[in-house]
Amino acid sequence: MTVRTRVAPSPTGDPHVGTAYIALFNMAFAKSQGGQFLLRIEDTDQARSTPESEQQILDSLRWLGLDWDEGPDNGGSHGPYRQSERRDIYDQHAKILIDKGHAFPCFCSSERLDELRKEQEISKSGSGYDGRCLHLSEDDVQAKVAAGESHVIRMKIPAEGKCVFNDMLRGNIEIDWTQVDMQVLVKADGMPTYHLANVVDDHLMEITHVIRGEEWINSAPKHQLLYEYFGWDMPVLCHMPLLRNPDKSKLSKRKNPTSITYYRDAGYLPEALVNYLGRMGWSMPDESEKFNLDAMIENFDITRVSLGGPIFDQEKLSWLNASWIREDLSTEQFADRLHKWLLNSDYVMKFLPQAQGRVETLADFAPMASFMFSGMLDLSEEDFVHKKLEQADVKKVLQFTLWRLEQLRQWNKSDIFNEIKTLSKEMGLKLGDFNHPIFVAIAGTPNSWSVMDSMEILGADMTRARLRHAINVLGGLSKKETKRFDKEFRVLGAE
Ligand code: GLU
Repeated sequence: MTVRTRVAPSPTGDPHVGTAYIALFNMAFAKSQGGQFLLRIEDTDQARSTPESEQQILDSLRWLGLDWDEGPDNGGSHGPYRQSERRDIYDQHAKILIDKGHAFPCFCSSERLDELRKEQEISKSGSGYDGRCLHLSEDDVQAKVAAGESHVIRMKIPAEGKCVFNDMLRGNIEIDWTQVDMQVLVKADGMPTYHLANVVDDHLMEITHVIRGEEWINSAPKHQLLYEYFGWDMPVLCHMPLLRNPDKSKLSKRKNPTSITYYRDAGYLPEALVNYLGRMGWSMPDESEKFNLDAMIENFDITRVSLGGPIFDQEKLSWLNASWIREDLSTEQFADRLHKWLLNSDYVMKFLPQAQGRVETLADFAPMASFMFSGMLDLSEEDFVHKKLEQADVKKVLQFTLWRLEQLRQWNKSDIFNEIKTLSKEMGLKLGDFNHPIFVAIAGTPNSWSVMDSMEILGADMTRARLRHAINVLGGLSKKETKRFDKEFRVLGAE
């Protein structure tokens, strides 16, 4: 048997370090067994998936050197590798399940499901779908379908007993069937959900081992049942521990930058990031801290993964990065890396016209442009003091801007400007006042060239990371504040 693993990201946002972490372990496992590693794009959520996000995921995994044998860009014998191109396959498989009596159409409206949820909350009588449409007669179903009634397809779940499945790292896991919902497999628009598409694809792509984050453990009973319904063997499951912030909470961009692009642009070496991710819950047999991808593959043993939540600590990553720069690069190689990073004319030309309009001497350039070559800026609360804005307003401006920019699908100067102009108007602030904290967050000073230009050039991830950092410098947002801001923000958008 050839070992085949895959990473299956959903292209719905920034290329996440968690994706790289899972990709790395899948790759190391497959390669250590002489097997193959695949990349599949899970873009069934059409509303949230974007081609830009897909491209960024591919680019950042390649930057890390986590190359795949088969995937949407390099093809392979088990394609297509993008779920949106496999709809016919899912249709056929949903039909098989219905014909075998393992799945059923459900016509319940979202209003009814909301009602049901509320009733269940009040009476504390379990959760999940109550099975009303399980009992429709064949005639009723046909009449409803013929009348064009909107419906989804759900899978049947045993009413009682336990599901037992095995995990490579955790042994047997038991979950009561009463805890498992009659999962929707096909949505009203005909698109499959993650569960159906994932199981069908893993089978057809001959995946032997599914290594993924522990947040998917609760999905395993549904998947195991789907394999049984189809009469297929299930791949071996392995749920990796989740990456955590230094305070042990789940890794989140509010506390740590989570985008691979951020780390690239902030000047981390791909070798160092791969090395650091390799140390997340895993160690070399000789416990050495520093190793490259080949050494990891050579020494890989999945049973060395420990389940205590690995902490992703930027300071440790920086320490490791420093050691890669100091110990593993000659001066020529260091120069070459700087050049490939941002010290090149392609990059500098993007803001040279802005700088030219502001310098008095050539020597003014480097200090003026230093924020274009930085990660997080060294800021303090005083930097944000402004005669027209209270500190609370400053935080609000930064947070609201961040939320608007997180929703922006096209990253360019005019779209960024439109968001900011609209937001300042909605908040009743003059654009000049509104922009002050934005300038400080992005450029470190209000006296820089157009901050819209800077944001476009620095890119979405770096911009958002700096806005988040600025909010943290101002003390961050308490839970209460977040709730209050969120409420105000929603009203703004609605007006
Ligand atoms: N698309 C899922 C994700 O975004 C894949 C989960 C899995 O590996 O089964 O993580």
